Amino acid sequence: MAKDEIEYKDHNTLFETAPYVESAEKKRVFEAACSREQAKEIEEYLKTPEYQEINFSRKETVINPAKACQPLGAVLGALGFEGTLPFSHGSQGCIAYFRSHLARHFKEPVPAVSSSMTEDGAVFGGMKNLIEGLQNATTLYKPKMVAIHTTCMAEVIGDDLNAFIGNARKEGVISEDFPVAYCNTPSFVGSHTWGYDHMIKGIISYLTERHGDLRPADAPKTEKLNLISGFDTYTANFGEIKRILELFGVEYTFLGDHSESLNSPADGSYKYYYGGTKLADVPLAPGAQATLALQKYSTKKTREYIEESWKQPTSAVYSPIGITATDKLLKEISRITGKPVPQELIKERAQVVDALTDSHPYLHNKRVALVGDPDILLGLISFCLEVGLEPVHILCSNGDKEFEEEAYGLLKASPHGIDAKVYVGHDLWHLRSLLFTDPVDFAIGSTHLKQNCKAAGIPLVRIGFPIFDRHHLHRFPILGYQGALHVLTTVVNTLLQQLDDQAEPHSFDFVR
Ligand code: SF4
Repeated sequence: MAKDEIEYKDHNTLFETAPYVESAEKKRVFEAACSREQAKEIEEYLKTPEYQEINFSRKETVINPAKACQPLGAVLGALGFEGTLPFSHGSQGCIAYFRSHLARHFKEPVPAVSSSMTEDGAVFGGMKNLIEGLQNATTLYKPKMVAIHTTCMAEVIGDDLNAFIGNARKEGVISEDFPVAYCNTPSFVGSHTWGYDHMIKGIISYLTERHGDLRPADAPKTEKLNLISGFDTYTANFGEIKRILELFGVEYTFLGDHSESLNSPADGSYKYYYGGTKLADVPLAPGAQATLALQKYSTKKTREYIEESWKQPTSAVYSPIGITATDKLLKEISRITGKPVPQELIKERAQVVDALTDSHPYLHNKRVALVGDPDILLGLISFCLEVGLEPVHILCSNGDKEFEEEAYGLLKASPHGIDAKVYVGHDLWHLRSLLFTDPVDFAIGSTHLKQNCKAAGIPLVRIGFPIFDRHHLHRFPILGYQGALHVLTTVVNTLLQQLDDQAEPHSFDFVR
């Protein structure tokens, strides 16, 4: 077929053509939609302080929370281990959601299976499904380990994963020594960050205790440092942290490294499993000198377990985004290992400070709304304050009191943060009101903010999870000094584009 015989229309132009316009009109009639004038009137009312008061008085209804459910985090955690197949004990709809959510963000296939519970399972329990599922999954996909998590249905009916896995072994569906880790992830509490935490704890506790003969004192002592990424959806962050540790000359083990699982090469073949923490490395991890978590709020249970069971010291930083937070990370690595911060990183820091100084005039006093998970938000707050941005609305659907206090601690320590307000447990519909009653210049957060930002006429800098509508952002780091440079570049260029878009001819400058 010749090239010019094909007419391509993009989404926008296609839906402006007659058949679609007519179809949309018929739909309006069929649905007895209100008139366009009425719709406009309501839209304007939703922007008023009066509606904001009603909106903030909501008690039982949540509209568009900026979080996902626990098992999604459990799937991400499981993908961080060698040859590991995430297994969702629940309905197919749940795993379809986790897989599609992760696949849309990473643009990668996400191998994960389900016990496919239906009404039968809900009434009689899900043991049969789980045992059959284990048999099918291990036969078809030949994993080195299966990592099971629960979903709402399995939790509500009280399925006992430990007993079910034991019965699967008794029935010979899986051998006595085939590794099956598990965790409970009741989705009606917490969020994806809790699910991640539970799965990492589930896997490392299983792999270190499964033979029942390992005590922390038995693991040979090493100079290694254990790292836990937290719920981190930037594959490039792993490379950046590894580079930093290698510059320090520190040997390390990542307890959960999903950077390769979600960055598979297009080389003509397909594998289910790429990279991940070697299963054999986990039982040696209790012998390391310490464990350092790169997110504190998404690793609480895992760190508690390591301290209590491995008797190993742990420490945690919030996401090291920007200069100050990266300084804290490097000081922590230096404190734990006794090694000085490498000269190369000191030089790199100065280069990023120089870049920051160049961009500062375009950032100073710009008002920003921030949305995300607790750790990433603290990193972003720290970054904003050090570059002169003014965080105004900080919304964290899955934050707690401790996060709120830590956020205010950071904000109140800077003149740029004193007017900021932190909204824990609120949702994106609350934020919508705030964007109209107390406007900002731009917002930082996930793709879920795009409708709010479009309605408020402000740009959105996409940082966090999920990012569905921009490509490859997760392939660039946001942590460390290189990450700071990347975040700075993204933010300042967004604001420069806004400046150009709003400029009159006499201000449409060539040099910014
Ligand atoms: S909230 Fe419950 S039902 Fe919904 S996807 Fe998560 S686990 Fe499944």
